[in-house]
This record gives sequence, structure tokens and C-alpha cells, in this order.
Amino acid sequence: MRPLTICLMLALAVPMTPTLTAAEPLKVLLLDGQNNHNWKATTPLLRKILEDAGMKVEVSTAPAKAEDMAKWTPAFKGHDVVVSNYNGTPWSKETQTAFDEYVKTGGGFVAVHAANNSFPAWSEYNEMIGVGGWGGRNEKSGPYIRFKDDKFVRDESKGNGGSHGKAHPFVVSVRNGEHPITKGLPKEFMHAQDELYDRLRGPAKGLTVLATAFADKSTGGSGEHEPMLMVIDYGKGRVFHTTLGHDTTAIKCVGFAVTLQRGAEWAATGKVTQKVPEKFPSADKVLSWE
Ligand code: ZN
Repeated sequence: MRPLTICLMLALAVPMTPTLTAAEPLKVLLLDGQNNHNWKATTPLLRKILEDAGMKVEVSTAPAKAEDMAKWTPAFKGHDVVVSNYNGTPWSKETQTAFDEYVKTGGGFVAVHAANNSFPAWSEYNEMIGVGGWGGRNEKSGPYIRFKDDKFVRDESKGNGGSHGKAHPFVVSVRNGEHPITKGLPKEFMHAQDELYDRLRGPAKGLTVLATAFADKSTGGSGEHEPMLMVIDYGKGRVFHTTLGHDTTAIKCVGFAVTLQRGAEWAATGKVTQKVPEKFPSADKVLSWE
């Protein structure tokens, strides 16, 4: 028998042989439909980033502002992680309860940028995101989280929650490099032009800040090291909160994309199996994936 024939026979035999099945792709439900940002432009990019990490993404688009929210009942269950690109009118009570139940019982949740502006009056949501901004948030919403003398402290002083200066590229500093999401990332990386959210406040229960950025007063910032990447334990669920991602420029930053991919996997499974790509932004240069 000639070697080629043997090869063909082996190839044909493969489907008949029981083999280890590849891991099922993680199922992501990406929410949009309302936002004070251009969600029609950013959702396809978020989707592409997650698909590039081997995830299966379904998008659920909420009704527009004036429409009836009650008819929108996204199937949270059946997905490993829900990613929110939504900032808009409150969901129906039924959808709120279903989402709370989903995360509380072990579902993953990722809040992207203005998703942390949403739902100032929904206390469970505020617990999930840890801290948020705007929508009347103030000292009654919870503390500011401040980085002082190398540790995070709660600042209960009075003041509004949520602000940002002029958009600009800025350095993101990893403060916890032992977490699965940040393990292996450089200690500092330059993030593409974005809004540097500052003065966020909320209940901040079960919250761990993974990375910060300095909101320089010269760009209109708070003069503090502000939380940029966070994780929150909510019931049995895991939440990854990235304040980054104002627009397509910010989202195309490799630092944004890689932390989103890793954060989504962690929120879904509690682990990160992805390798940090060799091409990753340094502390002094923005790196775009396109
Ligand atoms: Zn923004």
C-alpha cells in the first residue's frame, strides 16, 4: 500500500473514532438599543473582539426610548455572560428581576463604559457595577473609591458621582496583577484616546479594583487615580466592569480589546485561558488592533 493511501484511510477513519470534543464556545449575550453613545457603531466592534476570542455572540437590542420596554425579554439564561452596551430607560420589572436572578445565581456580567451610567435608581444594578456615574448619583449612592498610600479607600465625602475631562490617550496602571484578568499584562499600558471617567460612586460591595488611571486636573480630571477596570462579586455571579470604551477609537485599543476578552471569559467561567498577545501597548505608545 502506498503511503498516500494509508493517509487517506486514516483521514477517513477519524470521524468514526471517538475523540475529545473541543470546548463549547462561550455564549455571550450583548445588550444594546439605547445609549447616549453611538451603540450602532460600537456594538459590531465589541462583537468582533469577543468573536476573535472564540466566543459566540448574540445581540439583543432593546426597544427605542419611546417604545414599550415590556415586550423586550432577553434570554439571559442560556448565556455564559451578558455584556452591556446599554444606557437608557429602565427595563421592565420582569426583565430587571430576571437579570438580577441570572447574575445572583452565577451568571457573568460585563459593564462597558456608559453601562455604568444606567439605572441610578435600581439598587441591585448599582451593587452589580460597584460604582457608577451621573443620573443624580451622589453621596447617597455610596463612596468614591480612592487610591491613597498604595491602597484603595472609601471616600464618603459629599459630591456628585460621575464626571470626565477632555478625552485623551492615557496610561492605565495595573494595581492587581494577580487576578486572572490582569495576570501577565504589563504594569502600565497606554490606552487610546478615551474619556477618563472620574468620581464614580456606588455601594462598592465586593469590589476589587484591578487597574486605575490618573485623572490629571490639566485635562479637566479629578486629580485622583480613578478605577478603570474592576471586578465585583454579586451573589454567585461575577462582574467585570470596564469604564473604558467611549467610541470606536477607544474600543480599537488593544488594551481595551484584550481586557474585554479576558474580562468576559473570567465573568463567564472564573478563569482566563487566553494568552496575553505579544503585541500589547507599552506605557508610552497607543496600539490599535486595526
Ligand atoms: Zn463616553
